Amino acid sequence: MMKDKKISTGLVSTGRNQSPEPHSVPIAVERASTVLFPTYDQFTAKVRPFFYGRFGTRTHRAFEDSIASLEGAAQVMLAPSGLAAITHSLISFALPGSHLLVTDSAYDPVRNFCDHYLQPRGVSVEYYDPRIGAGISDLLRDNSCAVLAESPGSLTFEIQNIPAMAKGLDKRVPLLVDNTWGSGFYFRPLDMGADISIIAATKYIAGHADGLIGTIAVNDDQLADKINQALRLIGNNISADEVYLAHRGLRSMGARLAQHQETGLALARYLSDRDEVATLLHPGLPSHPDHVLWKRDFSGSCGLFAAIFHENRPNKLRAFFDRLTHFGMGYSWGGFESLAIPAWPEKIRTAVPWREKGQLVRFHGGLEHVDDLIDDLDNAFAAMAQAG
Ligand SMILES: *Cc1c(COP(=O)(O)O)cnc(C)c1O
Repeated sequence: MMKDKKISTGLVSTGRNQSPEPHSVPIAVERASTVLFPTYDQFTAKVRPFFYGRFGTRTHRAFEDSIASLEGAAQVMLAPSGLAAITHSLISFALPGSHLLVTDSAYDPVRNFCDHYLQPRGVSVEYYDPRIGAGISDLLRDNSCAVLAESPGSLTFEIQNIPAMAKGLDKRVPLLVDNTWGSGFYFRPLDMGADISIIAATKYIAGHADGLIGTIAVNDDQLADKINQALRLIGNNISADEVYLAHRGLRSMGARLAQHQETGLALARYLSDRDEVATLLHPGLPSHPDHVLWKRDFSGSCGLFAAIFHENRPNKLRAFFDRLTHFGMGYSWGGFESLAIPAWPEKIRTAVPWREKGQLVRFHGGLEHVDDLIDDLDNAFAAMAQAG
């Protein structure tokens, strides 16, 4: 609780203009390609906080500062999307001939990048059981370059034992964590021994389904230099407008997440009482297999979880999804709107095959009133029952 309190206040106050002159509360949107240096000495100075638009402006630096305090990081770098933040971090370490360990529960597009970009370029990618814990060290090889974790895992919500993994790896290779679900608010991987924490700020930080951006938080200067080099050499640009939206979203993230948490738990409890639901995948519920671990490492839960229905026949599922009015069907999450989508982890998993027979449905509890959301689900289950 204390920690949440401190973080909520920090989200409102960090990265703000400290000028003694009257100034606007929000950070100004500073768009630029060219940055002018009034003097020769300024142009040739060794340290230049910004010098060309592609490397960002004061708008970017302020947002980086805010994320650094959220994640407890010495340095934060930005990428044009959450996926780009992960892929650029991976290519900083994964060279031809190296071996990369990736959790079997990774966000599916990350797997696509590993299988269709890294593997053809000579990187050997090995998927591991998300519940491996300290045993990750047994998978290390001489040519291992990094370990990517994601907690909880996409679609299937396994909690990874990040402190045990960090201890087992003992800094032999960097441990990267996709921290999008916890968003730095409910989980801080760097405090638990991870080396790099990555957030798709597209989700709860931007929070309004209107922008894409990724953040990479690091404490070690050498690791930061490596990633920065990849980001800069490749020539990414992150629009100041996008940064502005993400920074604006960050200000209200504490209040929004509190509501997403409450609604998510209420929906999960409602669903766990439904006869149509076989299993609930929400780490905040005591029935979740990793609940104890979640309680130890996380300070709360967001609005994203999944349920496994007994039903898997398309005509029944069509009736359910098409009857929903408040829950939209669409990718991404973390915005103000509720979402529900079917997903098929059995098509993705390799290290730990997915054996559930029923349909996995991923839910995002948005900011609508929870009673309306539950009515919506009641109606959708009724439609599913009636469908022939
Ligand atoms: C959405 C998501 C990403 C990718 O973020 P984009 O900004 O959409 O590229 C990465 N990891 C997780 C866990 C996500 O849910």
